[in-house]
Amino acid sequence: MTPPATPPSAGPAEALVDLDAYRANLAVLREAAPTALQMAVVKADAYGHGSVEVAASARDAGAEWLGVATVEEARTLRRGGDTGPVLAWLSPAGADLAPAIDADVDVAAGSVAQLDAVLGSGAAKRPRVHLKVDTGMARGGVRGAELTALFEAARDAQRAGRLEVVGVFSHLACADEPASPVNAAQEHAFADAVTELAALGVEPELRHLANSAATLTRPSVHHDLVRVGIASYGLSPGPLLGTPADLGLTPVMTLRTALALVRRVPPGTGVSYGHTYVTKRETTLGLIPVGYGDGLLRAASNTASAWVNGQTVAIAGRVCMDQVVLDLGDTPARRGDEVVLFGPGDRGEPLAEDWAQAAGTIGYEVVTRLGGRIVRRYAAGSRPAQ
Ligand SMILES: *Cc1c(COP(=O)(O)O)cnc(C)c1O
Repeated sequence: MTPPATPPSAGPAEALVDLDAYRANLAVLREAAPTALQMAVVKADAYGHGSVEVAASARDAGAEWLGVATVEEARTLRRGGDTGPVLAWLSPAGADLAPAIDADVDVAAGSVAQLDAVLGSGAAKRPRVHLKVDTGMARGGVRGAELTALFEAARDAQRAGRLEVVGVFSHLACADEPASPVNAAQEHAFADAVTELAALGVEPELRHLANSAATLTRPSVHHDLVRVGIASYGLSPGPLLGTPADLGLTPVMTLRTALALVRRVPPGTGVSYGHTYVTKRETTLGLIPVGYGDGLLRAASNTASAWVNGQTVAIAGRVCMDQVVLDLGDTPARRGDEVVLFGPGDRGEPLAEDWAQAAGTIGYEVVTRLGGRIVRRYAAGSRPAQ
């Protein structure tokens, strides 16, 4: 998108969210998994992009399902007007499941205790449940004897008309490493679990295993439905899969602000806390009013870059809570000039992945952490005029 010339006035920084790019990314993912239903994953406020707006856009694009972690997130979608199929897969102790079940939200059970919580929720409607299998991630879900116990309990409850087993699912630990043998091992463990469930007479309509990486690289695990998160936001699931452009994806978020202060300093000027950056020569410093209090990574101190007036410029010194200093060199700049921290890259600005690499983390964290004072703005219908 081409952002307006004048940067934000409502807050110190804004996250422009390009919903056209989002829908285009879902289309790319649909093409990668044409026979599966598509679940757009909008947990954690749609990875920082705003769950209600993104969810509406996902439905526009034809996503049959939405996926979230908590039932509270699912209820936020309902309050935002969504009425379609939604799965909330996390089952924290003490969660009040009834309002979500009564709002037609599917829930997950990854242990007998979680199944008991569903059965005892007090919901008026019959719960729709997805059984969660641990095929090798060792996070949630059942394996071994616990798997048999959960499956039997679910069968009994379904026979008694107390719930409907809609799905069986699992999650891959190494999908962003397509050559890892763990993927095949998990794929086989999942097939075994589905077989065991069928042997008990339970054949749910939805078997699902794939995240973004597996949607893009491993058709054998697409099954009935794929759960796509990070790639839908135009980020690569991992360096081994290539850049967003390699994958045909467009980054959805542009994080931008404006220079709050510009000044010339002599060589030898120590910058920000601890003076971890010292100017080597006379240079121009620019201040931007955004920091780790807004979700910027402090670990990006002295390593990440931003984009100002067509130039890539370095973060100078530590990222502070509310402010960051940029070394603009001799780039002409004035207070009020636009600064892009990351974006789609079509003007040469860094990608979220560049920030991730600079800070030793993953792109997921770069976008998902943003919050606080950052104002989100939606720019649909404004693809870049290149
Ligand atoms: C977050 C999540 C996804 C989406 O993963 P991406 O790598 O972002 O595509 C899918 N399934 C489950 C269970 C998840 O927790």
